[in-house]
Amino acid sequence: MLSRQEIQKFQNSLLRWYSVHQRDLPWRRTRDPYAIWISEIMLQQTRVAAVIPYYERFLQKFPDFRALAAAPEQELLAYWAGLGYYYRARHMQKAAQKIAEKGAFPNSYDEIRSLPGIGEYTAAAVASIGFNLPHAVVDGNVYRVLSRIFNDSTNIASSRARKHFASLAETVLDRRQPGTYNQALMELGATVCLPKRPQCLLCPVASVCRARAQGTQDTLPVKIKPQKSVGEERTLFLVEQGDSILLWQRPADSRLMPGFWELPERAHLPEAVPCRLVGSFRHGITFHDYRFELREATVDGDVGDCRWVAKTELPCLPLSTIVRKAFGVLKRGTAVSAHASGV
Ligand code: SF4
Repeated sequence: MLSRQEIQKFQNSLLRWYSVHQRDLPWRRTRDPYAIWISEIMLQQTRVAAVIPYYERFLQKFPDFRALAAAPEQELLAYWAGLGYYYRARHMQKAAQKIAEKGAFPNSYDEIRSLPGIGEYTAAAVASIGFNLPHAVVDGNVYRVLSRIFNDSTNIASSRARKHFASLAETVLDRRQPGTYNQALMELGATVCLPKRPQCLLCPVASVCRARAQGTQDTLPVKIKPQKSVGEERTLFLVEQGDSILLWQRPADSRLMPGFWELPERAHLPEAVPCRLVGSFRHGITFHDYRFELREATVDGDVGDCRWVAKTELPCLPLSTIVRKAFGVLKRGTAVSAHASGV
């Protein structure tokens, strides 16, 4: 963590630097929350340089929320054409119509956040820049700068990252001028604390930066994407004979669930003749997303490694989750499900 003095030094150095080095961008010449909002929506997934002409044309045509609320959809889309992600324009118009119903642009974070198409980041940006409310923005630039300032190796692709960095961002937020501070922090990330080769020699906050002190700036932020799961289709056979059902048991030295009982698949029962489809279910194991179908089947003679098991024994046997799920599919009244549900 940073001491109180270091936080103050960080804020002051950042703001001083921003007052001199900020890029002159059209949305920085206004505090109008409507204009700030339009710029923030346009900047999602689009580069700054590409947004500028769109922003200027759009504001000339739709200078306030009333004009946007009343715009024919075709006209609105024509002014958005080229920016892509048209749902953004549609959401904006819905939000403008809600604002028009109330008669004024909402001036609290919660009200702004409740509008269609406005997430936590945009709500914090509009609330802080448009109304000077103390809400810290957290975007990709902020993740990067904060992970370096605090030398924090939290995986920014993990589920806990957003909450974690939002809390760090709150601790260093300058509550006296949150809008300017938020813009300064993002500007630092966009122009100095770059993803590759951060410009530490030019950095106004280098003296409090923990990563620079430790020489870890090039390894931060840590981003490890969760491995994509692989889908796989499998078939389980439900083979019954009177009051018995065919199962196979995992060997005692099996790496996975030794001694557990399973429903047979083709590998265990090569002679099976598949019949009616009973149902299907999904089951995830580490990076596999299995879709199992459960089929009635018959078998003549050789049952391989399988064993006929009396249904009355099922509640006393260790059954894998997959078998339990399969029996769940049978829940509509068969003898097997009745026994299995008691396991
Ligand atoms: S000193 Fe380097 S790593 Fe630290 S904030 Fe500045 S540019 Fe980023």
